[in-house]
Amino acid sequence: MPFDPSVTVEKAESARMQKLSIAKNRRVPDPLGVIEEASRRHIYHVFNVGPWPQKVGLGSLGFFFVPGCPKNKEYVEAPQNVMGIVSELTIKDEFEYNRLMTDGWKITQEIVGIGRSRNPKRALTHYGLFASKNAVPTKEELFQAKTMLHATCSDIVREARDLYAMDRKAFSVIVQRNRHFAAAEVLNLSDEVWMTDQSPSQRVKCMYCGSMNDEIAVKCAKCAEIINVERYRMLRDREEEILSGEEPRRRPGRPPRKEPEV
Ligand SMILES: [Zn+2]
Repeated sequence: MPFDPSVTVEKAESARMQKLSIAKNRRVPDPLGVIEEASRRHIYHVFNVGPWPQKVGLGSLGFFFVPGCPKNKEYVEAPQNVMGIVSELTIKDEFEYNRLMTDGWKITQEIVGIGRSRNPKRALTHYGLFASKNAVPTKEELFQAKTMLHATCSDIVREARDLYAMDRKAFSVIVQRNRHFAAAEVLNLSDEVWMTDQSPSQRVKCMYCGSMNDEIAVKCAKCAEIINVERYRMLRDREEEILSGEEPRRRPGRPPRKEPEV
């Protein structure tokens, strides 16, 4: 651009501001009445038979919330519905928006996780969500949703069982009330040994390092301080009783702590 001495900083700035203000007043194309009408004729619903609430991100369309199904109900419906045609505004240029029309059913399927660009393995249909064209779900729809939910819950419960049997430490870290116990509840399980023996909610906080320990722990798993003195004395006395018949009183396990020499 050739140098123009008549263009001052002020003039350039005002031109820039004018351009910006035009962009702010970008024209929004009017929706076509006939499409609006057609859109209202189809309303799609999202239901949940599972206990977990879900929040689904839909890019520029924002978030879609689905509550968890209460225990005394067969299913719950998401508070929002999806219209037959979902229109979305995208910027065309600094003067105008484009109105992008998307099939509402496609979006409904995306919400439950079976749309394009979603990993089917991670679909929320495995957790009880389903899309429906009916205001009240059919028996078949509910049956299918529950079948998928139960399969997932069985997997979650199996994880808890296996951890409990093989790795108690990992069990106490991984097994969660709102995942594993909720899954067991869906399957009407309440008296499995991993559920009744010790529940993760009854964990004890170490006074020394703050880490959480199993209720039955005597020493902290992290810092090895005694966190249950009563139980510790009980176990120690029992050990001593057992060992009393033998020569030098030595406790099994770690060697005695050496006092620093002065
Ligand atoms: Zn500790």
